[in-house]
Amino acid sequence: MEKILEVENLHVTFSTYGGTVKAVRGVNFYLNKGETLAIVGESGCGKSVTSNAIMRLIPDPPGKISNGRILFKGQDLTRIGEKRMRSIRGVDISMIFQDPMTALNPTLTIGTQLMEGLRDHYKVSAQEAKKKALEMMTLVGIPNPEERLKQYPHQFSGGMRQRIVIAIALICEPELLIADEPTTALDVTIQAQILELFEKIQEATGVSIILITHDLGVVAKIADRIAVMYAGKIIETGTKRDIFYRPEHPYTKGLLHSVPRLDVKGDLIPINGTPPDLFSPPKGCAFTARCPFAMEVCDKVYPKESKLTDTHRVDCWLQDERAEQLMATTALK
Ligand code: SF4
Repeated sequence: MEKILEVENLHVTFSTYGGTVKAVRGVNFYLNKGETLAIVGESGCGKSVTSNAIMRLIPDPPGKISNGRILFKGQDLTRIGEKRMRSIRGVDISMIFQDPMTALNPTLTIGTQLMEGLRDHYKVSAQEAKKKALEMMTLVGIPNPEERLKQYPHQFSGGMRQRIVIAIALICEPELLIADEPTTALDVTIQAQILELFEKIQEATGVSIILITHDLGVVAKIADRIAVMYAGKIIETGTKRDIFYRPEHPYTKGLLHSVPRLDVKGDLIPINGTPPDLFSPPKGCAFTARCPFAMEVCDKVYPKESKLTDTHRVDCWLQDERAEQLMATTALK
């Protein structure tokens, strides 16, 4: 399969009066053409910072991509100038943000906002831009597009506004779409419609999607592969099947046990404790303080990545070939 995006050893830091926050600490992942990768994790784990880094939207200062490469179709986005990046942003790579109301300008009509990107990046006539805008509105399921084009964001419901945001993101036919919590601000029935829309759009356009979410229900619906993030690192990756049916990292298992599932009986089990302070993250596994299986080594040395199958990888000492010996010789917490 052709890889459209490869992120290698990505580090993002933020300088503050209190010190340097290491928000993303050596993230590696790839995205195949036409697939949907979900990046999952709790608030503050670095998932949105990772997606903003791909778009080069980290405010510098105080933020900084301090190390690593972001290869989009082989080109390292961390090394190109802002002018070149502007020609990629919104054209080759588009982003959808969480809240459709703040993503739209309340003073401009939907038509103006839809056509703006197209006219900025391509030299198309007003007539051609309008034709494309109407096509996009139809694709995302807006009824009476001709009439709705002349209306303002406040005349649309939350779900319809998110459809417009999706249409704006897709109008220049990007090859990569990054959706950051695209359904969080919507109610449950509208969420389901928007997720179906993503599937329909991917089928129609072949766009590759990175979905940033904390919601495992969303992931179960549309992801092909999943990367689980914790404290600035990806700690487990696999196909949807690997993660939902054969999770190996104790944090992934904890996440799955803490949300209601129809196929699993029993009480929900919360993950006790809080994530570590990213001003001074631990040298070893950042989940040590919350992990019921933690060993002495976990706190001191970061586990190397264990390749469980061709698709499934995990960073955990329990999967290390030396685990049994370590458990026998070190005190369990
Ligand atoms: Fe738990 Fe140790 Fe595995 Fe971290 S490396 S998840 S602390 S067992």
